[in-house]
Amino acid sequence: MGPTKGHAFCGALMSNIRQHRKLTMPQPERTNVMTSAPHPYFGIWFRRFFFRAWFVIAALFVLSLLLLKNDFSVIGAVLAISFGISIPFTIGYLLYRLYHIDCPNCHAQLKTIKNVKMSKYEAVCNRCKIVWDVGIGIGNSD
Ligand SMILES: [Zn+2]
Repeated sequence: MGPTKGHAFCGALMSNIRQHRKLTMPQPERTNVMTSAPHPYFGIWFRRFFFRAWFVIAALFVLSLLLLKNDFSVIGAVLAISFGISIPFTIGYLLYRLYHIDCPNCHAQLKTIKNVKMSKYEAVCNRCKIVWDVGIGIGNSD
């Protein structure tokens, strides 16, 4: 009997034991095991959108001030109003996206939670059993 035959026998025995264990293992305990992984793209998208949005908002603010100062009162007022509207809309949209993240694995809707201990946001997929690290810190910890 060569070493390969012995290994094959051992392997078959081990897989038998493993299968047996799988059947006898208490199921609820297994389903609670979550793995964590960094979300591949949400944090990058979020940050990019955040900085672009603030750039546009700042540009609206400066432009409306310049136009109002130079007696372009109608367009200046329009820009000032859109500046005022764009802030709550941007924050609302970003919060909406933060709480409606898709799972990169199965495209299911994730449940976003605040991990206060680690001071960061996490999105949980109950189907894949993965806790996605969104890549966004809570507050100024980032
Ligand atoms: Zn998933």
